[in-house]
Amino acid sequence: MGFLKTLAKRFVALVNADVRYEDESNQFCIMLRVCQIMLIVYMLLFELLTFLFWKGGNPYLVLPWIAIIIGGFWTTYQFRTRVVFHLFSCLTIVWIWLFVHYFGWDVGAQHFLFPLLVVSFFATYDNIRGKTIYTLVLLAFRLYLFLYVSEKPAMYPLEHGTQSAFQILNMVALFSIMFYVCWTFSNTNQEAQKKLAYYNKRLKHEARTDALTGLWNRRSMLESLEKRVSGESQEFLSVAIGDIDFFKRVNDTRGHNCGDEVLRRLGALFAEFMQDKGLVCRWGGEEFFLAFSTNGDIARAHIDDLRERIQGMEITDPSTGEIFHITMTFGVEEYDFSSTVTELIRRADDKLYAGKDSGRNCTVY
Ligand code: GH3
Ligand code: MG
Ligand code: MG
Repeated sequence: MGFLKTLAKRFVALVNADVRYEDESNQFCIMLRVCQIMLIVYMLLFELLTFLFWKGGNPYLVLPWIAIIIGGFWTTYQFRTRVVFHLFSCLTIVWIWLFVHYFGWDVGAQHFLFPLLVVSFFATYDNIRGKTIYTLVLLAFRLYLFLYVSEKPAMYPLEHGTQSAFQILNMVALFSIMFYVCWTFSNTNQEAQKKLAYYNKRLKHEARTDALTGLWNRRSMLESLEKRVSGESQEFLSVAIGDIDFFKRVNDTRGHNCGDEVLRRLGALFAEFMQDKGLVCRWGGEEFFLAFSTNGDIARAHIDDLRERIQGMEITDPSTGEIFHITMTFGVEEYDFSSTVTELIRRADDKLYAGKDSGRNCTVY
């Protein structure tokens, strides 16, 4: 039992082995391998049926094909998938021709052209021109087969019962291969769609947020302000720009890592504080921008409250474990319902710099 399990595991690993060339699709190669294994099983069963039902026939007719398809399986570890696929196509076309030649149209070997067609569309590397040409070649071959059998009778005409047995085997094999190929195809497609939707969402989120603090970035804030200012809203709007005092000193004496920690802690504090008051973003470097739906006086009161919380915040230096404090300076400006966003921001910025000039850790309104 244990031996069988190990053998099965080895076989699965063999089928799933990576393609030889890194720039090729693993999945397509694995699909070709599985298709060839299915064909080998099909040929073995065909061989069995010839023994059981084909009285007076040549029982070794199919044997060489089993060897040839095993050879085809081996090529998937040796050559580029494109080459393997074309070899596989040629082999399939030859054995279909031979089977039709031997047993006639009614056994249905010609239907095995359909999985080839589906597999060719699964190949991610081929362009649409290649696929169209391939389809036309298969169509031409099938037409040729059709005309061929109407001229020539089967080389080994089968009795009704034998023919039915071969027909049933062909139907089952064909459905199994088609099922496997379509199943893989649809799975890959669905997974790709899911991944695309996920990456799109993530990309959108990343384009709108600041990676360090998780707050909105300047672009999102500007978009929101432009929308608000260009709209008909009669609601108050006040904005504030805040800048950390002597932040360079934190970086210089405690290291950049510690500076980042300050920014993260501030980001969390702002996000929590602004939850029910308005919007906040990391404006750039060590500056934050806040937008309130209130008049300037109320916004200023909020900012003073916030400054007190910032001053009281205990920040731990990650490298020394030491606790230290920081302060911030803010410029607050109320929207006058006529300026542009740029003018509004410039006025808030001027006030911030006035605050820096007058000694920092203050709010200028
Ligand atoms: P002031 O009180 O006048 O604002 O002084 P300051 O030292 O804060 O101002 P300054 O503009 O001289 O320094 C800002 C510093 O912020 C410089 C820059 O290295 C730092 N900084 C900007 N972005 C980041 C960041 O993402 N992480 C860290 N750790 N530092 C940053
Ligand atoms: Mg600054
Ligand atoms: Mg600063």
